[in-house]
Amino acid sequence: MIDVAEAWALIAAAARPLPAEIRPLRDAVGRVAVETVRSPLDLPGFDRSAMDGFAVRAADTAPGSAPLRVVGAIAAGEDPALTVGPGEAVGITTGAALPAGADAVLRSELAETDDQGRVVAGETLEAGRFVRFRGEDIASGDVLLDAGRALTVQRLSALAAAGVSGITVRRAARVHLLTTGDELVMAGGPLGPGQIHDSNGPVLAQLAGAAGAEVNDHGAAPDEPEAIAAGVRSALEQADVLVISGGVSVGEHDHVKSVLAREGVEELFWRVRLKPGKPLFCGIRGDTFVFGLPGNPLSVVVCFLAFVEPLLRRLHGEPDAAMRLLPARLAVPASAEDGRTTFLTARLARGADGMLEATPTTRQGSHMTGALAEADGFVVAPHDAGELQAGDRVDVLVL
Ligand code: AMP
Ligand code: MG
Repeated sequence: MIDVAEAWALIAAAARPLPAEIRPLRDAVGRVAVETVRSPLDLPGFDRSAMDGFAVRAADTAPGSAPLRVVGAIAAGEDPALTVGPGEAVGITTGAALPAGADAVLRSELAETDDQGRVVAGETLEAGRFVRFRGEDIASGDVLLDAGRALTVQRLSALAAAGVSGITVRRAARVHLLTTGDELVMAGGPLGPGQIHDSNGPVLAQLAGAAGAEVNDHGAAPDEPEAIAAGVRSALEQADVLVISGGVSVGEHDHVKSVLAREGVEELFWRVRLKPGKPLFCGIRGDTFVFGLPGNPLSVVVCFLAFVEPLLRRLHGEPDAAMRLLPARLAVPASAEDGRTTFLTARLARGADGMLEATPTTRQGSHMTGALAEADGFVVAPHDAGELQAGDRVDVLVL
């Protein structure tokens, strides 16, 4: 048996980024850029008005200046083929290009029109007031997205504004799912004696989808080597990552490991000092990672978030991806399983000082889907943590 850190190190060492592809910008959110993207343009691309009002010469708004003659108007999107001369003003809308000669904008709320249609400035402007200057946001050549960084929504604005229509990103991992168990009935089906509904299939599909993978669900196989092998074979043809639920322990009906061995999957590790999730199996065939997750619903979630999710981020091109942990403070005492990294379902809230506080749910157990439903995340207690006290600093994995 190995530690969580050793298990992750084995996975990380074997992970290679997936090939690159060009995606339209809007379909590339969440993907990692393969090449650094620089702006081909200045942003703003021209000096623009920040207000509705009048483009003027700032000097013409000095106290005692004469009213300004309005010589035209420019709306956003129009070519500013006008010049503002001394003593003149041009009507302008927010976002419109500043006409030649003007160096400031008089806001409409501080512009009074006299009986001859001239504009009287209600404030003294400095040159540049209410002007958004060319290149002040982003200059041509500035980095919009570094190689190895994911395209996030907050980066999308600048890329779209710069006219970038497509970017080269790592392709999405193809995650294939296979649940196993004689007892499983798909959602909606009637339960016979001893049967249960499959909850891992839908959960894994969601977790993999949320991690940006392309998900292919092979449904459920009974605990029969041939049925499992058929699912595994078809999945291995295309999968970057195959995730199997159930059948990976040492029971008479646990056939997943032997089937995987026969299908040429080489074991990376089996059994991790982890609770829940101890019987976790991980192997590789060619470039495909294969995970055998213990079937208990919370084991599936923990193993996925601890190992599969960070692996997907590595495959997607994030070189330093690892389990996403945040610091928190334990609100009540808790105890970790001796010798095993323990994931405790917990509610998370901000304490009076703003620090994240974790309160483990009273019920804990790898089958406790109700406790999981109440949880905002997991307290991740290290294998050597022992008894934890209220106020102790802990890591949490936020759901
Ligand atoms: P196993 O890993 O096959 O030994 O299963 C461990 C526990 O998880 C057993 O109680 C199974 O009935 C349960 N289990 C296995 N697969 C699923 C599933 N897809 N959905 C819900 N529970 C499951
Ligand atoms: Mg089973």
